[in-house]
Amino acid sequence: MIETILNYPLSRDRLIDLLSSSGEEEKALFNYSTATKLKNVGNEVYLRGLIELSNICDKDCFYCGIRKSNNNITRFTLKYEEVIESVKYAYEKGYGSIVIQSGERSSRSFSDKIDKIIRESKKITNNNIGITLSCGEQSEETYLRWFESGADRYLLRIETSSEELYKKLHPKDTLHNYTNRRNALELLRKTGYQLGTGVMIGLPFQTTEMLADDLIFMRDLNIDMCGMGPYIEHTKTPLYKFREQLPITTVRLSLALKMISLSRILMPNINIAATTVLKVLDQKATEKAIAIGANVIMPNITPLFYRKEYLLYENRSEPLFSFEDELALLEKRLETISHRIGYNKQGNSKHYTKNWSRCIPE
Ligand code: SAH
Ligand code: SF4
Repeated sequence: MIETILNYPLSRDRLIDLLSSSGEEEKALFNYSTATKLKNVGNEVYLRGLIELSNICDKDCFYCGIRKSNNNITRFTLKYEEVIESVKYAYEKGYGSIVIQSGERSSRSFSDKIDKIIRESKKITNNNIGITLSCGEQSEETYLRWFESGADRYLLRIETSSEELYKKLHPKDTLHNYTNRRNALELLRKTGYQLGTGVMIGLPFQTTEMLADDLIFMRDLNIDMCGMGPYIEHTKTPLYKFREQLPITTVRLSLALKMISLSRILMPNINIAATTVLKVLDQKATEKAIAIGANVIMPNITPLFYRKEYLLYENRSEPLFSFEDELALLEKRLETISHRIGYNKQGNSKHYTKNWSRCIPE
C-alpha cells in the first residue's frame, strides 16, 4: 500500500502531501521508513557525547536563547581540562564519538582552543574517538586546520532552505547571510568532513511547502548526516512574540517525526540524529524517532554545573540521575523497540564511507 502512497520518485507535491498526512497514511509512512532504515543502517544506534563548550556567541539569531543580545544569562566557556575530562569519560563509557558544540566565535584564541582539544582527544583515545564539530560558520582556513588536526564531521544547520524565511529569522547583516551559510556547507564538503546539516521544524512563518523544499535541499546537497528538531520558543528572544502562531505540541512532534521519516526514505544510508530537543515535546520522542528512521543519539555529557546557562530553547529536559543511569535507561528504552547501542564504535556515516575512498572505520 505504501509503495503506491509514496509513488516513487517522490515529487515535491507528494512530499507536501506526506508531511500533511495523519492516521493510517502516517502510520504507513512510518512503517516504510522503518523498513528502509533497518535495511540500510540496521538496528544499531550510535552515541555521540555532546559537549557544550561555550554559550558565548557573536551572533544574534532571533530564535536562540544564547544570542549575543540576551543579557539574562551568565556566559561561560569550559576550561580545556574540563573538556578533556569529559572526552575521557565518554571514551571510557564506550561512546564512540563526541560532538563539540558552541556559540559561534571567530577569534584566534577560540580556534586555537578547539584545535588543541581535537588533537588531545585523538591522542588520549589512540585515535579511536570520532569527533563532530558544531561551531558555526568559520573561515576556510579554520575548517581545514580543524580537519587536519583530526575532526571527522561537521554539523552546520542551514536552519531553513527558504531564503525568505531565513531573512525573517536573522538580523540583516553579513554575519547572518543565507548565501554565506550555504557556501559554508560547500566549503565543509570540499575540506573533506562528513557533512551534516538540518533545519528547525515548526517555525513561525514556515509552511509545509518550505519543509518539503528543505528535504529536497538536503538530498540535493548529498549530505552524510542530518540533525533536525522542532523549534521551541524562548522567552528572551525576538521570535517569542510569534508564539501564538506555532503549531500545538502534538502537531509539531508529528511534523518533526515525518521530517525524519521522509529524510530516511530520501537518503537511506545517511546518519540521522534523534535530537535532544525532541524530548521537550514528548518524553518518549527519542524512541519514536529512532524507530522510524534516526540512528544517532547525542546524550549531553557537559558538566552539569554549566548546563543551565546553555539554553538555546526553554524547558530542556535534564537527566534525573547520573550519566551512567541515563545510559542504562536509554539502553532499556531502545530494547523496547529492538534496537541496541553500538558501544565503542565511531558510527561513521555509511553514505560517506561509500562515497569516499578514504579508509575509515564504520
Ligand atoms: N552556534 C552554532 C551551533 C550551536 S546552535 C550554530 O548556530 O550553528 C545549534 C542549533 O541549535 C542551531 O543550529 C539551531 O538550529 C538550534 N536552535 C537554536 N535555537 C533553537 C530553538 N529556540 N529551538 C530549537 N532549536 C534551536
Ligand atoms: Fe549563536 Fe548558534 Fe544560537 Fe545563532 S543558533 S545565536 S549562531 S548559538
